[in-house]
Amino acid sequence: MGFYPLQLPHLLFNPMLTRNMKVKELNKIMKPQINSNCIHCGACAFECPNEAIFKFNTPYKIAGTERFPLKKRTYYIVPALCSLCVETAGKLLCADICPMNAIV
Ligand code: SF4
Ligand code: SF4
Repeated sequence: MGFYPLQLPHLLFNPMLTRNMKVKELNKIMKPQINSNCIHCGACAFECPNEAIFKFNTPYKIAGTERFPLKKRTYYIVPALCSLCVETAGKLLCADICPMNAIV
């Protein structure tokens, strides 16, 4: 999972956030990330049931609105679109299919 330890205390002990907001943010930072081992094969994007994975340097869309690409050199996952399919498939489909183990 893409996890940044420094974000955790800031999130958990932030008095400005309600419990629901903390859960939402925690879910967001726990989403998988694609690292620089990506060789651009596109298998993960094809496999993702939510179409949450996009090619490098290409925009993604949420609710019909086009947004700037999140990465320029590797495929990337849009956290807001990823549902952590492990809950339905029993595993992360993208991480499972990646030949480079680039999704962590
Ligand atoms: S399956 Fe792996 S190597 Fe292929 S595009 Fe996705 S992250 Fe990159
Ligand atoms: S974890 Fe599942 S839903 Fe999320 S990006 Fe990977 S394949 Fe898509």
